[in-house]
Amino acid sequence: MGLGTTSPLTVLGCALAVHSAAATGSHHFATDSSTFDYVVVGGGTSGLVVANRLTENRHNTVLVIERGYFDDKPEAIIPWYSTAVDTSVLLNPRSAPNSKLYNATHNVTVAAVVGGATVVNGMGCDRGSKADYDAWEELGNPGWGWNGLLPYFKKSTTFTPPNPDVVDRWNITWNSATYGKGPVQVHISNFQYPDIDTIWEGFRQQPGVTFPPGSSSGFGPGAYWSANTIDARGMTRSTARSAYYDPVNKTRSNLRLVIGQTATELLFDRGKPLRAKGVRVVSSFDAKVRNVYARKEVILAAGAVMTPHLLQVSGIGPASVLKAAGIKVEKDLPSVGANFQDHATVVLWFNLSTPSFPNSDSMSNNATYNATVWEEYLTNRTGPVAAANSNSIIYYSLAQVLSPSAAASVASRLLAQDARQYLPAIYSTSSALLRGFKAQRAILAQRFTTNTSSYTAQPLRGNGQSPSPLLKPLSRGTVTLNLTHPESLPVVQYNTFINPIDEELAVAVVRRSRRYWASPALQKLGPTERQPGAEYQTDTEISDYLKANRLALFASLAHPSGTCAMMPEKLGGCVGSDLRVYGVKGLSVVDASVIPLISGTSLQATVYAIAEKAADIIKARG
Ligand SMILES: Cc1cc2nc3c(=O)[nH]c(=O)nc-3n(C[C@H](O)[C@H](O)[C@H](O)COP(=O)(O)OP(=O)(O)OC[C@H]3O[C@@H](n4cnc5c(N)ncnc54)[C@H](O)[C@@H]3O)c2cc1C
Repeated sequence: MGLGTTSPLTVLGCALAVHSAAATGSHHFATDSSTFDYVVVGGGTSGLVVANRLTENRHNTVLVIERGYFDDKPEAIIPWYSTAVDTSVLLNPRSAPNSKLYNATHNVTVAAVVGGATVVNGMGCDRGSKADYDAWEELGNPGWGWNGLLPYFKKSTTFTPPNPDVVDRWNITWNSATYGKGPVQVHISNFQYPDIDTIWEGFRQQPGVTFPPGSSSGFGPGAYWSANTIDARGMTRSTARSAYYDPVNKTRSNLRLVIGQTATELLFDRGKPLRAKGVRVVSSFDAKVRNVYARKEVILAAGAVMTPHLLQVSGIGPASVLKAAGIKVEKDLPSVGANFQDHATVVLWFNLSTPSFPNSDSMSNNATYNATVWEEYLTNRTGPVAAANSNSIIYYSLAQVLSPSAAASVASRLLAQDARQYLPAIYSTSSALLRGFKAQRAILAQRFTTNTSSYTAQPLRGNGQSPSPLLKPLSRGTVTLNLTHPESLPVVQYNTFINPIDEELAVAVVRRSRRYWASPALQKLGPTERQPGAEYQTDTEISDYLKANRLALFASLAHPSGTCAMMPEKLGGCVGSDLRVYGVKGLSVVDASVIPLISGTSLQATVYAIAEKAADIIKARG
């Protein structure tokens, strides 16, 4: 991670244990109770929200089962660490080889820690455009459009603006009306490197750019001051744990969280209809196996990679896959593990010959500066260590990446495709899945021709790294249990570029990024393209480079979603708009798996809002 000479681990005197041992004593199973009103699988982002809200009613008892532990390391607390991922709290399976990328495999970032991905994520906290969420409603989910979600975006968040002098100096904008008084603390950093001026001057020079107020307002394309999940009261990371668990842990005897416990199977009453009655759990401490039971519901919040896995090992999934793995089919549901989406990302790098000092590389290449700013953080909670990854981002519609007429032509070609040719095999055996994809495709084609939602973005830190995620992927991946070892980690197939239009548009995104870096303002930094490199000019050259270089094309931005999609069952859905799994009573899903069509930004704000809404839906059915 390049800390120069002074490691904050040393500065903090290693007072913080890796897995908070103090916490484990009270987070084992009690011997006396194995039945709760609700059993939540996964003490991550969505699981802790739902557990908190359900236990607001002291008559509800809730058990949260979490495979990870408490993480009180500086990496989980200090904002600067968001610039790199702490892999010690990840499961990190490798993806399956992708034939479109010369059989490359990729990291799959699966958090295993109390607080889930919010403990390791990049701390960006933006919302997609109104049109992104309205698409969910158009796909047959009443109440799940922007207007239905906005109260929950607000309910989950509190925004603390930067200091007034900082606001004036940088012209920072936000929209207070889109935040509430919720547990997740959101902030735009007081610290900005001087070259951020140049980054914004570059934004202003992009044709057609707009400057909507606030990255939380649902506007879509435009240049924004992007927010972070920072708790401005102490300049620490705000996580699902710090927001939804720590504040109530001591006072709610009806909430129990067990750690180091992995849910391995759902338990059913096999009447008609099938009903989930509990969960089988294995302990990482002593390998003991227990059954726990839910009087009302089992709620799955294990994330978009592990929730479909748990469903499949329990007999809910595509019958052909389950049979091949020797698993009894409880409910044939082809949607479990299909519709997998993430934000594949092209990454350009520029060498900067004339950056200002300090800049976002200074902490790693200047030991004196590094020591000074750590001291500053520990003394005053200010400076770059108190800041997260990036606050400056520009989002582009497809029409802004190409041209309005070229975007319209892409939309027409997309609609003319024989969809089955570019989808995973499971779509050829399920007419419902295929119908669902076509419904998604019609919406995407419409979005491609308007400026209502974003196709790509450039979050910039002022160094030469220039990532651009593909925010509207057409390719669909799969999460499938391992046929020979179903209990082991699932097989994750990203299928990046399985749809050739994604590949074509990735090239266009490289060109869009280059145009930004070629704008007059950016010349102040003296940029020279290092990745891919100026010698890659034709579509084929650029595309081949991306496909052959894992550092130039990330298959994932750690935004897995869609693997138990909220859509009507006749469209290949897995849960309805009430979040109940089709064909199974007493079983809901509340995590990123339910996202039917990935929204055009990072996911945490969206997952918090989904989980807040889920809690109200579950409460209402009593
Ligand atoms: C490295 C990384 C960087 C990211 N950066 C950003 C960012 O900058 N901005 C942003 O908006 N989003 C970001 N995201 C995405 C965002 O944080 C996630 O989409 C969101 O938090 C997912 O919430 P979830 O509830 O679906 O899953 P999670 O938060 O992952 O929770 C799932 C929980 O279930 C537990 N679990 C899984 N299986 C079992 C089992 N069988 N038994 C018991 N427990 C189980 C896991 O240990 C985990 O705690 C990032 C994610 C990662 C991983």
